[in-house]
Amino acid sequence: MLNNEPNKGLRKKMKLKFLGAAKQVTGSMYMVRLDNGYTILVDCGMDYEVKKNPIERANLFPFDPVDVDLVLLTHAHIDHSGNLPALVNHGFRGHIMCTPATAELTGYLLYDSANIQFHDYRKSLGRAKKTRRDQVAKPLFSEKNVKQTVEQFLTVNYNEDFQITENIHVRFLEAGHLLGAASILVTVNENNKTTKIGFSGDLGRANSKLVKDGEIFEQADYLITESTYGGRKHFAIGTAEEELLQYIQKTCIEFRGRLIIPAFSVGRTQAVVFTINQLKKKGLIPNWLKVFVDSPLAIKSTPVYERHSYLLNEEALAFQKEHGSLFHFDGITYLEGMDEHDELLNYFDPCIIISAAGMVEGGRIQEHVMNNIDNPYSTILIAGFCAEGTLGHRLLQGQSTIRIKNTDKNVYAQIAKTDVYSSHPDHEEVLSYIKRSAENSRKAGKPIQKIFLVHGEEPQLMAMKNAVEGEGIASVVVPDMEQEFNF
Ligand SMILES: [Zn+2]
Repeated sequence: MLNNEPNKGLRKKMKLKFLGAAKQVTGSMYMVRLDNGYTILVDCGMDYEVKKNPIERANLFPFDPVDVDLVLLTHAHIDHSGNLPALVNHGFRGHIMCTPATAELTGYLLYDSANIQFHDYRKSLGRAKKTRRDQVAKPLFSEKNVKQTVEQFLTVNYNEDFQITENIHVRFLEAGHLLGAASILVTVNENNKTTKIGFSGDLGRANSKLVKDGEIFEQADYLITESTYGGRKHFAIGTAEEELLQYIQKTCIEFRGRLIIPAFSVGRTQAVVFTINQLKKKGLIPNWLKVFVDSPLAIKSTPVYERHSYLLNEEALAFQKEHGSLFHFDGITYLEGMDEHDELLNYFDPCIIISAAGMVEGGRIQEHVMNNIDNPYSTILIAGFCAEGTLGHRLLQGQSTIRIKNTDKNVYAQIAKTDVYSSHPDHEEVLSYIKRSAENSRKAGKPIQKIFLVHGEEPQLMAMKNAVEGEGIASVVVPDMEQEFNF
């Protein structure tokens, strides 16, 4: 049991409040406040909209972080974890519970985020006129705040019932979305009543690369689930190996060009590298073809996959048993320093370059895209979701010229997109998750009372609401920001 004293209050009922990812994708944050005042925050993610707005930046939390007793963290992605150091900076001193792999990955991502914010701040300060320097947005937190955040982590494995206080239990389940990602069940016994609230976190797809398939809650009274791709369907012509092989053959072997893959350093990069390794071991790509992973963060996060290999799926474990490492093979080089990065920019032989950020918004990948965009023999393969306004999104619009780093460039390279690495379920897959959750609860003798849809733009959430209601499963709510419900 944790020894956090609950904050005493005069509230009559347990409350659930939506403080982020309500009718939008980023900024996941939900508050559960018990009748006795004990306050739990589920996720504390960075809101990418707020990030740009200086007034909203100053009011990140519509509550006093000192009053929060515990944080439950579903997974490492910044839109779920990115405001934790700010929460700590504003006085939160409780534990942050997550799986061991999430704790490690989150630490690396938060240090990286602090570093990016510091450099962005210095750059903006340098560009701003003297009189306007005080208006430049300051970093939301420092490395020192990240260090303290990491010290507050308390790890828990999947499927272990963890008692928080006399009347609260939590249980983390495999979510199948990212190494260590969890769906979290919060069980509260209060006023002679047991209430189970299930938070899906971000879900994954069945048979995804590296991680296992997600699990379903045995019973929940309330289900809060993501619906990022409500109303949408993922398209894939074949398996990850088949799709990637096509691009490698055409670009690197036929055209003798370079295949540039923008990928997040945590998750996507490891999935792509593992696929290339599988193709190599099958002898489907030649030994002379070099692969470069140009990302210091990937160098840090890849060993987390190796340390927690017990979390990997059967396909990955079988490969590891037969061939040893999933992420290291002849011909692959991981680049850390800027001098190595600069050397790679002058490497003109056919090769595969994997670099971050995934949406091509900032990071080393921008220079690789810039370097190859006017080369008809190069291919830029977008392997994930790109938010509107990002360079990745603009590349996919099919324009003949594009502005990168204040320079207009002709687009002669092939621009391609694949959904095969998507780490979120599509419409049918989320609907199936909800149906199976409802079925489990019904079988357990206590049907789901309400389903809350979050982590999606409004049209995606409404498409899912209509589908779930059409099935007659349970009443569905698409909550507004700061909307509160009593249980
Ligand atoms: Zn995620």
